[in-house]
Amino acid sequence: MIKIHNLHKSFGDLEVLKGVDITIHKGEVVSLIGASGSGKSTLLRCLNRLETITAGKIIIDNIVLDESVKHINQIRREVGMVFQQFNLFPHMTVLENVMEAPIQVLHRKKEDVKKEALVLLEKVGLLEKQNVYPKKLSGGQQQRVAIARALAMNPKIMLFDEPTSALDPELVGEVLNVMKQLANEGMTMVVVTHEMGFARDVADRVIYMHNGMIEEQGDPKVVLSNPKSERLKGFLRLVN
Ligand code: ADP
Ligand code: MG
Repeated sequence: MIKIHNLHKSFGDLEVLKGVDITIHKGEVVSLIGASGSGKSTLLRCLNRLETITAGKIIIDNIVLDESVKHINQIRREVGMVFQQFNLFPHMTVLENVMEAPIQVLHRKKEDVKKEALVLLEKVGLLEKQNVYPKKLSGGQQQRVAIARALAMNPKIMLFDEPTSALDPELVGEVLNVMKQLANEGMTMVVVTHEMGFARDVADRVIYMHNGMIEEQGDPKVVLSNPKSERLKGFLRLVN
């Protein structure tokens, strides 16, 4: 589903990604971990072309992510993204937030989009909040709306960049549960997270990044409890 080959990304003189190779299969859930500044967000942002790449190749669902605007738009439709900051549209209700992209971007019929949006809101447990504005919601509820909004585009892949890092601890679980459900339904997911419990229990693979490169990867149950790399050992001591 995703093929990343020898990906390099620089900002001016700063080389942030230094040759990353990752293949992710359909339905696979990959957790991306690593210290702040190791390039995790940049990697995710390259995957839906929020960043241009300096060298290398990215192929998503057989579409080559090149300069072609057609390809970029195709990939953006197939790849949903959820950020640490929920970025809901403040002047729209929950339901309007979820309906916005399918109507504006895909030009789909309002009635059809509404039906699907209500199903998605039910799925994230927020059907009863459909007519509420975002500021009336808790952070956990807002993030669940953000997930429903991304799913409304019917993506084949979901990228999550520290989706629970801005939340109060008691609200983290409700968001992780929605993500876990999505994983169980077979969604292909790449999740940057410091929630090692999620990485261990839900992810099929964990990738530890250090300084713009993959330092270690594998089955989370093996990698997280028995890391080979001294750096990963140190990192796990810090986050656990
Ligand atoms: P992580 O998500 O692992 O914390 P990032 O991908 O956000 O790491 O950042 C990796 C490095 O790239 C950091 O040194 C950061 O300062 C730098 N960086 C990220 N985005 C930009 C940008 N738009 N311009 C310049 N430097 C950037
Ligand atoms: Mg980041």
